[in-house]
Amino acid sequence: VGCGICVKKCPFEAIDIVNLPEELEYPTHRYGPNTFVLYGLPIPVEGKVTGILGPNGIGKSTSLQILSGQIRPNLGIFEETVAWDEILKRFAGTELFDYLKHISGKEIKVAVKPQYVTYIPKAFSGTVRELLASTDERGALDHLVEDLTLGSILDREIKNLSGGELQRVAIAACLAREADFYFLDEITPYLDIYQRMAAANLIREVAGNRPVVIVEHDLAILDMLADTVHVAYGKPAVFGVITGPKGVRVGINEYLEGYLPEENVRFRDSAVVFEKRAHAEETIREDLFSFPEMTKSYDRFTLTVKGGEVKKGEVLGLVGPNGIGKSTFAKLLAGVEEPDGGPVEGKVTISYKPQYVKADSADTVEFMLRQITRRFDTSFYQHEVIEPLGLKQILQSPVNTLSGGELQRVAIAACLSRDADLYILDEPSAHLDVEQRMGLTKVLKHHAEGKECGVIVIDHDIYLIDMISERLVVFDGKPGVAGEAKGPFSMRDGMNLFLSELGVTFRRDKTGRPRINKPGSYLDREQRSHGEYYYAL
Ligand code: ADP
Ligand code: ADP
Ligand code: MG
Repeated sequence: VGCGICVKKCPFEAIDIVNLPEELEYPTHRYGPNTFVLYGLPIPVEGKVTGILGPNGIGKSTSLQILSGQIRPNLGIFEETVAWDEILKRFAGTELFDYLKHISGKEIKVAVKPQYVTYIPKAFSGTVRELLASTDERGALDHLVEDLTLGSILDREIKNLSGGELQRVAIAACLAREADFYFLDEITPYLDIYQRMAAANLIREVAGNRPVVIVEHDLAILDMLADTVHVAYGKPAVFGVITGPKGVRVGINEYLEGYLPEENVRFRDSAVVFEKRAHAEETIREDLFSFPEMTKSYDRFTLTVKGGEVKKGEVLGLVGPNGIGKSTFAKLLAGVEEPDGGPVEGKVTISYKPQYVKADSADTVEFMLRQITRRFDTSFYQHEVIEPLGLKQILQSPVNTLSGGELQRVAIAACLSRDADLYILDEPSAHLDVEQRMGLTKVLKHHAEGKECGVIVIDHDIYLIDMISERLVVFDGKPGVAGEAKGPFSMRDGMNLFLSELGVTFRRDKTGRPRINKPGSYLDREQRSHGEYYYAL
């Protein structure tokens, strides 16, 4: 079988390969007959952060197990054990040779931050202090606790932590260890931008004299964190190819373009593009509803909301740190909570996807979605929800067996399946890979326009917010004490307000992709002086 344009045969008919890259002739590992095959391997390098950029199910964990000596690569020959001499011969002359020689025959110590932190309470009972103490091998714990602002939760039970707290504890636990190399599988889910940047800076510190490998789908963070990236492409669960290392700017741009020039492989039809300039004029839309100026006080926290309106057919982005009142704002709109001084007139019906998605049902995904919508069999539902969210393959899976990323996409579909005037999605990007984030963007925009409803997205991935939202509500104040919701603003005004609070400016590279400026650099100072934090001057 071939895809027609191959000079050599592409064994999988899955990608557009003009010349079959050499590495596709030599598998690194195959689990068994008709199972997943891995080609290539990432290369941990001392003093560097190496990123792996690619979809889920493409062989990242398999690579990790090989690099840590838990799996001896079989070069695709699964019938027998392959001798290390044979393996080393295959990798002779490549950058991997030294690394593999070093691990041949022995296990090496890897410190791992697992992908799904919500499983941690099942494996560990006790307090944060106890968990962290058991990992304190470098004497760096105090510093990690401070920078990840864990001080106030040290005596809390692990089982009572929120997702964002668990994520930070897991990152601290990994970085506190003494290891031959560090592997962090997604650091950003449930963290706000401040926390993402703090974690990225700590990882860079650890990488000062050790190899660190990360998987990360928030590309603005990957961009500032990694030195080099390996792009992973192929067909999830069938085969995966890990390319050689590329500079982080080039690697991310090639990935967004969907084309790898060096390998001569196209793995996506369309490129991801960013708006270099804010829209000169907004799309004219009718108001869906307005909300008045209001406040909501809890014992220790007060949210103040400036009045505003949500428009029919728009996607509105909500940005701001954790604990600043974004969920509270959503609850006020939904009428789940009443503002101080009594209820708001003229409520709208709301469908809400919470930040933390739970699943205890043994029903299948299809059964569950059919309970919510009568439109399941329509081609509209299939084309606008099921396909772009990539749910086809998991429709018959019981909900309680899904991975975090699968569950997230099911929860998004469930939210959109309900009838409502306004759809609110709290951190829908968590655990989605880059392809899935793009699918999400398309689904939500079509949903808003097609139903003339409003869609509100709370998210911390700047690239996603940039691609998905038409206007922004910006939250600022003091997390856990007082928050203020301002806007909706145009994207330019909203991004400038949000990023000036954060103290971060973005420049554009040649392709128009936003990149975080080094604090204090010429461009950073120049852009601040003009008050342009995000869009090109
Ligand atoms: P990623 O980390 O990129 O999500 P993995 O390396 O975990 O991907 O898995 C890649 C593929 O290999 C998946 O289809 C998975 O089902 C398969 N796989 C993983 N471990 C085994 C195993 N021990 N036996 C057979 N197949 C496996
Ligand atoms: P965000 O969504 O921006 O992370 P939230 O709206 O969830 O923030 O919470 C803002 C603050 O309000 C937090 O300090 C939180 O502890 C507090 N809070 C939220 N709900 C309640 C409640 N029902 N009772 C008391 N405090 C609450
Ligand atoms: Mg929240």
